[in-house]
Amino acid sequence: MTSNNNLPIERSPLLSKDSYRGRFAPSPSGLLHFGSLITALASYCDAKSTTDSQGLQGKWLVRIEDIDPPREQVGASASILSTLEAFGLHWDEQVLYQSQQAKRYREMLNELRQQHLSYYCRCTRNEIKQIGGIYQGHCRSLNQPKQDSAARLVNQHGLHQFNDIFQGRVQCDLALAAEDFIIHRKDGLFAYQLAVVHDDIFQNISHVIRGCDLLEPTARQLTLFATLNCPAPQYGHIPLAITDQGYKLSKQNKAPAIDKNHPQPSLIAALNFLGQAPAPELVYEDVGDIIDWAVEHWSREKVSPVKEITIA
Ligand code: GLU
Ligand code: ZN
Repeated sequence: MTSNNNLPIERSPLLSKDSYRGRFAPSPSGLLHFGSLITALASYCDAKSTTDSQGLQGKWLVRIEDIDPPREQVGASASILSTLEAFGLHWDEQVLYQSQQAKRYREMLNELRQQHLSYYCRCTRNEIKQIGGIYQGHCRSLNQPKQDSAARLVNQHGLHQFNDIFQGRVQCDLALAAEDFIIHRKDGLFAYQLAVVHDDIFQNISHVIRGCDLLEPTARQLTLFATLNCPAPQYGHIPLAITDQGYKLSKQNKAPAIDKNHPQPSLIAALNFLGQAPAPELVYEDVGDIIDWAVEHWSREKVSPVKEITIA
């Protein structure tokens, strides 16, 4: 099945016109920590609390974003999946591994190239830094060779604002949004923007719920959807959990992995973080009952619209 865009990307069929298909898309650069549990739980609850016009419950997919082998931690993918299960977050359909999608990303790159929607660039990071950090299209008409070059998108749209489910109207940096950004890296790796947009189309994702650290990339992703003439999903960015020293909880700063043997306290803490205010006694219930409560009581309005929340 192909979409009605100008590039032939296969996509999963929709069961009805307003089907909800959400996803959680961790990179296996470390184990699941409290910050990623919040994202997983929010995207799960948002999907599972929605029913479409046919009365079908939303689907929640998991996609492992393993396209950057040097940043990958051995065993992290399997551990992330078993942790999600221990937390009662069971996914629909098969897990999609981006490492299995290379052929499709390459086809997309070739198509963009053939339609003159991308070009090769040999500028170094230093050169771009010297002109202020934003790429100015230097190689656009230079017809650079493919070898040892990055590929950049011809940015015809420069989309920079959108309506976010939790944040309201979001305005991104104009210059950044207008930049011809990289879609294939000089080192041969596929760029995150390319892979994520390809797969959100491929999996027919209708809603993307993720952390506020990905607000800025959303502008670029919207531009890529527009270039491909594909409707973009709806986005919802939830606040980031930051430490009292102001650091984002992330795999990079060695945020502790959550305890899969005692999921209840972390689940309750994640629900509180998301403003859902569960009764404290819920911590003594089974994981499945906590998740059922969370889906049944999920309220987008209760999620704080701030970008960061400090946690102890
Ligand atoms: N793989 C990305 C990350 O772990 C998330 C991508 C997304 O949700 O769009 O930060
Ligand atoms: Zn260049």
